[in-house]
Amino acid sequence: MPKNIVIIGGGAAGFFAAINHAQLHPEHSVILLEKSVQLLSKVRISGGGRCNVTHACFEPKELVRNYPRGSQELLGPFHRFQPRDTIAWFAERGIELKTEADGRMFPVTNSSQTIIDCFLKEAEKHGVNIRTKCGVQSLKNGVVELQSGERLEADAVILATGSAPFGHQLVQTLGHTIVKPVPSLFTFNVPDSPFHDLSGVSLQDVQVSIENTSLHQRGPFLFTHWGFSGPAVLKLSAWGARYLHDCDYQANVNIDWLPAQTFEQTRQQLVECKNQNARKQMGKEIPIKIPKALWNKLLTLNSFQPDQLYQSASNKDLNRLAQMIHQTIQKISGKTTYKEEFVTAGGIALKEVNFKTMQSLIEPKLYFAGEILDIDGVTGGFNFQNAWTTAHIAAQSAS
Ligand SMILES: Cc1cc2nc3c(=O)[nH]c(=O)nc-3n(C[C@H](O)[C@H](O)[C@H](O)COP(=O)(O)OP(=O)(O)OC[C@H]3O[C@@H](n4cnc5c(N)ncnc54)[C@H](O)[C@@H]3O)c2cc1C
Repeated sequence: MPKNIVIIGGGAAGFFAAINHAQLHPEHSVILLEKSVQLLSKVRISGGGRCNVTHACFEPKELVRNYPRGSQELLGPFHRFQPRDTIAWFAERGIELKTEADGRMFPVTNSSQTIIDCFLKEAEKHGVNIRTKCGVQSLKNGVVELQSGERLEADAVILATGSAPFGHQLVQTLGHTIVKPVPSLFTFNVPDSPFHDLSGVSLQDVQVSIENTSLHQRGPFLFTHWGFSGPAVLKLSAWGARYLHDCDYQANVNIDWLPAQTFEQTRQQLVECKNQNARKQMGKEIPIKIPKALWNKLLTLNSFQPDQLYQSASNKDLNRLAQMIHQTIQKISGKTTYKEEFVTAGGIALKEVNFKTMQSLIEPKLYFAGEILDIDGVTGGFNFQNAWTTAHIAAQSAS
């Protein structure tokens, strides 16, 4: 029997749910409601305009490790729809994705417009009725009331309003719990950093930890003119999103510039270098694998001069330098939004959702998809993968 399916939110999750449902059930009426004039606005700006669609990680158990919130709940759903399925879904529609060295996947066109065009074309092909400037006011028992006063009767509603406060308030009126939203995926401001003049310098492997916690991340690191960025910092901001919010983004970070080796190995390398290059300038002979600019900075922070000869450095001073190479403590004070990808931690409490169907355990006709849930991933395409997976399952179940 034909049914009425209403999807609220014209973003990544809403579109994916609408297209998949309309394709699966051509006999149903599928209405997609978007409150603004712009459809897919986050997809457009995502990944710096390139749209990091997903990540080349095909083992669900490994994939879920990239979700500071939602990892347990996503394990089942990823066995049903994972990055391999995302790649196939787009390939079937003529969109080829490419994988970058770090595993991020983008359309080969390097343009988010490719994804938008694909969604608009598919929605039209499968008869999705897209209505913009249609903000939803309230929802109860499948009756969707628009801000204009119009009422739509639905057999199932998929709510995909992202991190917008509206969606949170709406489900709270239905009895759902909202885990307090806080920002995730940001860079650290370090106003008193002695490293500001290293802005633009990057390292491939650094470990950054938040002092007095077990929070730490390892990976590429970038100095910015206001502080620290790069995947290691962004991932740490995701895992530490709630902790950092609670301490008002005031914390000490501990940086190990050479996590691949021990303090003792570094100390020996410095001493050996001194013994072999006694008459050479310290700034010119770098015994460890770090950028020259950082080496010179660490020298000056340890009261060495880059033009000083190794023979004048005592082993005690070299110990101190090795100590700083493995433990530079910096005070972060504030955060900066990372323009390429940011996301909200928090949303609908996951224990109130059936992850086999994405159905609300409180309101039977209601399903959820995307960022409205208390799920978020680290940077790299994991947030869209959450949108595709939950939307796909909601689309299959919502009839
Ligand atoms: C700058 C930026 C770049 C990003 N880049 C990436 C990336 O490259 N890769 C990645 O994986 N993730 C990326 N993300 C995260 C990703 O965009 C989100 O996780 C994803 O868009 C969530 O999809 P969604 O459909 O759940 O929510 P959204 O995309 O936020 O869509 C929700 C929609 O609901 C609409 N809405 C809200 N209230 C109502 C209402 N009352 N009635 C009707 N409609 C309503 C909104 O207008 C919006 O269109 C990025 C985020 C940002 C901000």
